[in-house]
Amino acid sequence: MIYFCGLAKINIDIKSGSLFQAGLAVGIDLGTTNSLIAWVDPQTHATEVIPVSNGSNLFPSLVYLPENGEILTGPAAQTALDQAGDRVVYSVKRLLGIAATDYESIRSRYPYLARSRYTREGVMIQGSEDRWHSAVELSSYILSDIKKLAATQKGTAITKAVITVPAYFDESQRSATKQAGERAGWEVLRIINEPTAACLAYGYGDLSSVARNIVVFDLGGGTFDVSVVRVEAGVFEVLSTHGDTQLGGDDIDRSVMQHWVGSADHSAHSSALRLLAKKAKESLSESEEFSASLEAVNYRLTKTELEQLAAPWIDRTIDSCQQALADAGLRLNDIQDVILVGGSTRMPYVKKRVAEFFQLEVNDRINPDEVVARGAALQAAQLNGTELGHLLLDVTPLSLGIETAGGLMDVLIPRNSKIPLSASRQYTTQRDGQTSIQISVYQGERDLIEFNRKLASFQVSGIPAMPAGLPKLNVRFQIDANGLLRVEAQETRSGARQEVVVNPAEALTNHLVEQQLQDAFTHAEADKEARTRISLIEEAQTMVRNLQKLLRTNQDWIAPKEAEELTTHCQRMESAMQQASLEQLSSLMKEAEEKARPITEEVMNRAVGDRLRDTSI
Ligand code: AMP
Repeated sequence: MIYFCGLAKINIDIKSGSLFQAGLAVGIDLGTTNSLIAWVDPQTHATEVIPVSNGSNLFPSLVYLPENGEILTGPAAQTALDQAGDRVVYSVKRLLGIAATDYESIRSRYPYLARSRYTREGVMIQGSEDRWHSAVELSSYILSDIKKLAATQKGTAITKAVITVPAYFDESQRSATKQAGERAGWEVLRIINEPTAACLAYGYGDLSSVARNIVVFDLGGGTFDVSVVRVEAGVFEVLSTHGDTQLGGDDIDRSVMQHWVGSADHSAHSSALRLLAKKAKESLSESEEFSASLEAVNYRLTKTELEQLAAPWIDRTIDSCQQALADAGLRLNDIQDVILVGGSTRMPYVKKRVAEFFQLEVNDRINPDEVVARGAALQAAQLNGTELGHLLLDVTPLSLGIETAGGLMDVLIPRNSKIPLSASRQYTTQRDGQTSIQISVYQGERDLIEFNRKLASFQVSGIPAMPAGLPKLNVRFQIDANGLLRVEAQETRSGARQEVVVNPAEALTNHLVEQQLQDAFTHAEADKEARTRISLIEEAQTMVRNLQKLLRTNQDWIAPKEAEELTTHCQRMESAMQQASLEQLSSLMKEAEEKARPITEEVMNRAVGDRLRDTSI
């Protein structure tokens, strides 16, 4: 157990800038449905999306796992959909870095998950009899083929990339994305948030631009996030982000399927019907009615029906917008622009709802599929040495801290802090002779760690036995530009040191995040009371221990009556602690101070006397 000694010192150190590096760099939007790759033309400084095939810039985020034979991705995997749909893995992004519980809850949604299991490496999918592929591996197959494609299209090897992730991705999901990139042979320059990339693409990095607050509304195939970004004189700052890692156009497709088939059991439906639902939805962006037949069944859908089916999903995105505004501490009329990102924002109904909510005309000038990749390309070029005149700040989605005495959460990095950053704080021990200290790292908004999410735990050992309060333990949290958290703890007197890079096995779901925020709000009063109670009891316990020690070490001269009185007083404090009677405890603590004062003063006098004698010898 460690104890917050009150000598808190926080150093927030936001780093920025770029290093010159040779070679070519690209931006990759690793999407749920499609991925895109873009680069900045070294001559013109204009962004350019690298074509994939047949005049399309979209690289389908698909992996075909045949029983025998070559694994295929992208357009090649798409052609396998017709004959072997259940062997084509789609929406891999939804599986990256997710927790076992999330896996269980989405298992029935994807036909290919019939041959899957959850291990320490996360979700694994069976390809052939003896070959299982992790979600990181599956993504790496896509990223590896993208790398080959870029080299072919540009006629030269390209090794460096900036890869984007939804703003709501936690450390585990970011880390899984980075690993997938590295496994594919990329030098991953940085993992950046998709909304931030979108702002870059819209040219808000212009040094002469006036300050404005921009909302980036990103609704793709499988993820949703909304961010409030402030940009001023070429500096981006994400004020807040909110979203749902399990919400997107796929959900609308499933609602359409459900409407057609009238059943909630999606696993029974074929991939062909899923594709038809998607086609219906997309075509209704241009027309009023859809009709097609499949296996001799005619399926029809009107634009109005689609809007009704989409409404519950879009309602959720609007709730998120409200939350993001509140988190940023802004009102509707503080927002100057709204940028639309992601294929699903092509739906006229989505544009209408977003425009109505923000009372602004939405900005969809740049192709919503390409905007993120173009922004990532700009960032890649800048990190690679092309001076484009802007820097990037992103934020942490939830607070990060450690457990302190009594099971309290001590936050080192508050929610919505700009990254990269580092924060440090000094702690000390609570008991005499403690030679090791346990550090437990948590993420969440509650005052008591039992309600937050444990990310890691480690021990700093080898501390020489010292009286309580003497060791000085520096705990440092460092979040790099990719959002990965390194926790370092060092006892400054002995040099004993330990560190951990947090890569939580279990990822956060949006549901859990929302639950956290909601619970923190609901229990704010009770949490505050619990914190006050626990802190007071901890303080009283330390006081009792110190008083008992004072009596023990000075028993040769303290008058027995005085000693007995103080011992009884300690007992009264202990029973007040047990009954958690705080008022009584705090007045007993004040009394204890009064009662002990003559003794502590005498101890001081004797110490001074001893020192004077020492020097006079
Ligand atoms: P993304 O993840 O950004 O690639 O977005 C893919 C999602 O956008 C899928 O759910 C598509 O069905 C959807 N989408 C693409 N084009 C349209 C369109 N014209 N109308 C409605 N949805 C679309």
